[in-house]
Amino acid sequence: MKRRGVLLIVSGPSGAGKGTLVRAYVDSREDVYLSVSATTRSPRAGEVDGTSYHFTSYEQFMDMVNEGQLLEWAEYCGNCYGTPKAAIEQMLAEGKDVILEIDVQGAMKIRSKMPEGVFIFVLPPSMEVLKQRLIGRESESNTSVIARLKRAQTEFLLIDKYNYVLVNDTIEQAISDLDGILRAEKCRIERNKNIIQEVCGDVISFN
Ligand code: ADP
Ligand code: 5GP
Repeated sequence: MKRRGVLLIVSGPSGAGKGTLVRAYVDSREDVYLSVSATTRSPRAGEVDGTSYHFTSYEQFMDMVNEGQLLEWAEYCGNCYGTPKAAIEQMLAEGKDVILEIDVQGAMKIRSKMPEGVFIFVLPPSMEVLKQRLIGRESESNTSVIARLKRAQTEFLLIDKYNYVLVNDTIEQAISDLDGILRAEKCRIERNKNIIQEVCGDVISFN
């Protein structure tokens, strides 16, 4: 029987580098799928519909919600964001690992539905670096930078609900840490019951 894939949920304040990190990681791994969320926010320069996000109108987004197409959804700084359900279930069943890059509210909803998920909180090395990264990305107005920095403070309150913290100082180190987490998770006893039973036989019984 094929081993089910690992579901990784990555959150953290806007500008911490989550997108950069998970994109670089999945680009180097064929067996890891990055979920593409739906959002009502407008595309930033360089963002591609269907790859960065599924960009939708508010009405289209609400249709997806009402039709039960989303695993979770949340409002973040004035826009709606949600995780399409079907693709994730298919990938996990095929044994592929799946990364969701979502905000803390969405992560907490997934945590109650899928507690086997691996919850990772990405931090910047300092708040000053976070601010500089948000400004340097040139994607936000001054007001939006301030809103996102303020939002970071409420996100930090939920950090103890996560399994891992990953400080994104250099991107190389962050990628290596993410890879380390996934590799360790794949070796967990709970995820390897079939092979254990196959090798050890009737001596072992899982309750
Ligand atoms: P998030 O997805 O968390 O909002 P991004 O991935 O968009 O953050 O990164 C925010 C900005 O910081 C981008 O301009 C990105 O190029 C930059 N960045 C991300 N990680 C690093 C890093 N380790 N070192 C320096 N700059 C980084
Ligand atoms: P951004 O506008 O910077 O791309 O994303 C803003 C926030 O929305 C980030 O914290 C990002 O992780 C989160 N986000 C992206 N997709 C989803 C999603 O599908 N669900 C939820 N709950 N949050 C999401």
